[in-house]
This record gives sequence, C-alpha cells and structure tokens, in this order.
Amino acid sequence: MPAAPCTYQLHFTLDAPVSVTVGKLGTFAFPAGRYVYTGSAKRNLEARLRRHQAKEKKLKWHIDYLLTAPGVHMREIKRSEEGECSLNQATGGTIPVAGFGASDCRSGCGSHLKYLGRL
Ligand SMILES: [Zn+2]
Repeated sequence: MPAAPCTYQLHFTLDAPVSVTVGKLGTFAFPAGRYVYTGSAKRNLEARLRRHQAKEKKLKWHIDYLLTAPGVHMREIKRSEEGECSLNQATGGTIPVAGFGASDCRSGCGSHLKYLGRL
C-alpha cells in the first residue's frame, strides 16, 4: 500500500477584488486572480476536502473566510504525499496576506496562501 496522501492544494479563482475579514488576522483586500492554498489533514483528508468545498459552514480556519467570499470558485484540488510546508515553498506566486493559514507553521513559510496572478 502506498502512503496515503495527507497534503492538499486548493486551486481557486476570485472573480473580482473583495475585502474579507479573516477571523482575528484582520481585514484584507484580495485582488482578483488565481490562488493556491496548501494544507494538510493527518486524518480524514476527503472529509476535509469536502468541507473546503462547502459554502455553508462554521468558519474556523483562515481559508474558510476566503473560500466563502463572493466570487470564489474552486478550480482544482490536488492531493500529495509531500510535506505541507515543502510543497508550499515549492509553489510559486506571492504572499497576499502575511501569516495566512500559517498559524501552526514552523517552517517559515510566511503564508500557506499564495497568489498566482491575474485571471
Ligand atoms: Zn509552512
């Protein structure tokens, strides 16, 4: 049996600029364009991914606040066996909000959300 993937990347787009209050992190203006979020679930990966695609849910993680914003469309979900932080660091793009999704990060990623540019 191969190792079960526990890392995932959510590729999504934002149709138009939107201002989102990301829990206690603050309120930020997100430009329209393409984004990728890298996360992991040591257990129940598929349940986590279903949750990420649900628009109705109790907002818990930083990414929840952004994914439930108007104009956000999930484009692709990739699963990986690579470590969350190494995969994130190997992903291009820029950091739109410092500290986003990186509360538990001990690898100096700076953010687990990357902005990949305009649509
Ligand atoms: Zn990290």
